[in-house]
Amino acid sequence: MSDCIFCSIVDGEIPSYTVYEDDTVVAFLDANPLARGHTLVIPKHHHERVNDLPADLAADLFAAVHELTDRIEAAVDAEATTIAVNNGELAGQEVPHVHVHVVPRFEGDGGRP
Ligand code: 5GP
Ligand code: ZN
Repeated sequence: MSDCIFCSIVDGEIPSYTVYEDDTVVAFLDANPLARGHTLVIPKHHHERVNDLPADLAADLFAAVHELTDRIEAAVDAEATTIAVNNGELAGQEVPHVHVHVVPRFEGDGGRP
């Protein structure tokens, strides 16, 4: 098993609720969601930070975020979406494998994640 939780998810060693997958990217529901439908979008290959990604993989990652945002808003009937990356430990990154938070937002949910 990998030392990295998200690599273990990619390898199917840790279960997750997958909502999207292509050759280079996978997306799954966050285990501790900030809101209904909170999804994490990650590259399949291990890279710690956004600035470590090859440009083509960064493009693939954001293309998946782009496609998923509409689908997730529709699935949970959200009004808007917070799209966020904690890039580095000091920025609040707890899992050192690049991940984009896609957090549906609802009327009256208050504050920012
Ligand atoms: P970070 O603080 O690194 O930006 O966010 C890490 C996110 O990963 C958190 O929102 C946390 O709930 C989520 N997470 C941590 N471990 C697991 C796991 O094993 N499965 C899933 N689905 N999410 C996880
Ligand atoms: Zn990893």
